[in-house]
Amino acid sequence: MNTEKKDSANTQALIHIENLCFNYNNNNQDNADNKPTDYEYVLKNINLDITEGSFTAVLGHNGSGKSTLAKLMNMILTPTEGKIFINGLDTSVEDNMNEVRRTVGMVFQNPDNQLVATIVEEDIAFGPENLGVEPDEIKRRVDEALETVGMTKYRLHAPHKLSGGQKQRIAIAGVIAMYPRLIILDESTAMLDPMGRQEVLNTIKYLNKEKKMTVILITHYMNEAVLADRVIVLNKGEVYIDGTPKQVFSQFEKMRKAGLDVPQVTELMHLLHEEQKTNDSIKKYAFPLNVLHTQEAADLIESQVKK
Ligand code: ADP
Repeated sequence: MNTEKKDSANTQALIHIENLCFNYNNNNQDNADNKPTDYEYVLKNINLDITEGSFTAVLGHNGSGKSTLAKLMNMILTPTEGKIFINGLDTSVEDNMNEVRRTVGMVFQNPDNQLVATIVEEDIAFGPENLGVEPDEIKRRVDEALETVGMTKYRLHAPHKLSGGQKQRIAIAGVIAMYPRLIILDESTAMLDPMGRQEVLNTIKYLNKEKKMTVILITHYMNEAVLADRVIVLNKGEVYIDGTPKQVFSQFEKMRKAGLDVPQVTELMHLLHEEQKTNDSIKKYAFPLNVLHTQEAADLIESQVKK
């Protein structure tokens, strides 16, 4: 069985991606004559390291390759070219699948498709049961997972009667009860109302900051990406921008080119910054382009107006 760890410094990252290319049509064909054309690659030359404990948001237009990348990270798919190492394990080696799936938990968009049992606690127990965890330990993990997502009092409820946000928190509990090192949330707030989204985001922040879990959040919402330490923007299957939220969102024009927004308040500062060039009455004010939060903008403007 080839579960050897690759002996190189950069594989110390929890996820190490090296020259990754992926194509759905010709996957895993090594016949050179049958090589996919450039157009067919949905991911091209991706090189990334995700460090343990980090919180990364992945942004990109529809079809930019975000879900494909997530599926490659937990071996639902395997690279056409290049390599992905999860905690040092090569995802192109089939024998590594169980360990990779144990390390990388996934939460998907639709909570209804992820809930399997008729009682919340049974639903959460399902994953660890499949891993062969002992019954006493399962009970302990279910208690802990319910508490982590703030759903303890719903343990005997029927999942299908819960709100969208609550269902998604149960889905997250089911994943964390398997003790993954990394959790990938693929548009997991997309189907929720604003309150449900907030509940799930609070849970994600808690998992990362308090439980030190590594998080990858794939999202369409700029205000969610702002919560991360790092934002990776995919465009047409390539890494287009990679940096802190401030570094990424201050690149307003570049984001627009990829059909993406920036947080509303960042856009407002950008517009004021532009307006300043022709409007003398606001020339004396500074409108920095890396403001991400409304309060930050309000404080900044207030302090300047007071002067
Ligand atoms: P995103 O998550 O950013 O919307 P995806 O990873 O879902 O992007 O899709 C990237 C590209 O791969 C798109 O062009 C999409 O049509 C294509 N694609 C996704 N899933 C499949 C599939 N199962 N078979 C063939 N093409 C696919």
